[in-house]
Amino acid sequence: MTNDLLILASNCKIITGHLKSILIDLQNQELLELSDWQFKLLKDISKLNKDEFIKKEIDFINSLIKKDVILKVPKQTLKYFKELNNEFENDSIINNSIVRINNSIVYYQDKLISNLNSVGCKFIEIRILDIMEKDILFEFLSRFKFTTIQSIDVFIPFNLNFTQCELINLQNKIFELRWIFIYSTPKNKLNNYNDKKLVNTLYLSHDINSKNCGVISSFYFAINIAMYTESLNNNTCLNCKISVDENGVVTNCPSIKENLGNLQFENLNEILLKKKTKKYWNITKDMINVCKDCEFRHICTDCRAFLEDPKDIYSKPLKCGYNPYTGVWEDWQTHPDKQNAIDYYGLRNSL
Ligand code: SF4
Ligand code: SF4
Repeated sequence: MTNDLLILASNCKIITGHLKSILIDLQNQELLELSDWQFKLLKDISKLNKDEFIKKEIDFINSLIKKDVILKVPKQTLKYFKELNNEFENDSIINNSIVRINNSIVYYQDKLISNLNSVGCKFIEIRILDIMEKDILFEFLSRFKFTTIQSIDVFIPFNLNFTQCELINLQNKIFELRWIFIYSTPKNKLNNYNDKKLVNTLYLSHDINSKNCGVISSFYFAINIAMYTESLNNNTCLNCKISVDENGVVTNCPSIKENLGNLQFENLNEILLKKKTKKYWNITKDMINVCKDCEFRHICTDCRAFLEDPKDIYSKPLKCGYNPYTGVWEDWQTHPDKQNAIDYYGLRNSL
C-alpha cells in the first residue's frame, strides 16, 4: 500500500444495528454484512496505520478499493472529498400517488390530473378495480401527457381480457408507462418486451386487496441515495404520498382508511393544509420501536397501516419478521406476538 490515505467513499455508509452492522453502497446499490473485525477496520479506516494491517485486512480493503467503496486519496486532496448531503432532495409537494379508478373516472379525471400536476406529482400507480371500458382507460392514461407525471404503473384485472396486441398498443402510445401488472391471473408470469423498447408486463396470480400491502422483506430493500436520505428525514412509505379512491376520497394510502377529503369537492392543496394529511410524513425509522435498532433501517420501507401494536403509532411494522436482536428472519404470519394484531386488522383470511 502507498502513503495515500484510505477513506470510505461518501456514498457508502456503515449502518449499525443492535447485533450487526452492514455496509451499504448507495452508488452501486449493494449491501455487505460486516463481521466484527471488518466493522472495526472500516469505522476508523482513515486513522489506522496501514503498516499494521494483516493479510485478511489487506485482502478485504483491496476488494473494496476495486469497487470504489474505499478510495485511496493523496493527503493534500482530502479537502475535496465532501460528506454526502443528508437532506432528502425533493422538489414536489406530492411525489407519488396511488389512484383507484373505474368507469366513473370520466366525471372527474380532469380535476384529478390537474390537481396531481399542481403539486408536482411524479409517480402514479393506477389500480383498476373492476370492469372498466378499455377506451375510458386509454383516454384517462393519455391525459398525463405534458403533466409532471414521469412514470405510470397500472394494475389491470385479468378479466378485462387485454390482448397482447392491445397491451403493446397501450405501451406504444403512453410513454410514461413503466410497468403493467395484470392481476388475478391463473399463474405468475413475466413478459419482457425490452427488446422492443417497451415496458414490462407482469402477470400476478394474487389480488390487489389493500390488506396484501405492507410486507417487509429483504427483496424490497432499496439501496440508493433517495431512500437513505428520505429514511433519515421522513417516512419511507408515506412521505409526500396520497391515495385517491374511485369516489375521489383521499387517504394516506389505500390501507389507511382515515378520510382526508374528497377531490370531487375540494382541491388537493386544501387537503394538504389539513394537519392529519401529513400525520405520518415525518415518522422516521429512528423513531420506530425495534426498527431504530435494526441495521436495515435506512434501506427498508416503512408501513404505518399495519402495526405490531395497532394502538402505538411508533410500533414496528406488523408484516416484518426480522428480529434485529437475534439477527434472524422469522415468519411474521405465525409469530405468537403478532396474532392479536392480525385479528385486529382482519388479516386472518388473507394470509
Ligand atoms: S403504509 Fe403500508 S399499506 Fe400503506 S402503502 Fe405503505 S406499505 Fe402499503
Ligand atoms: S425491523 Fe424494521 S427496519 Fe428492520 S427489517 Fe423490519 S421493518 Fe425493516
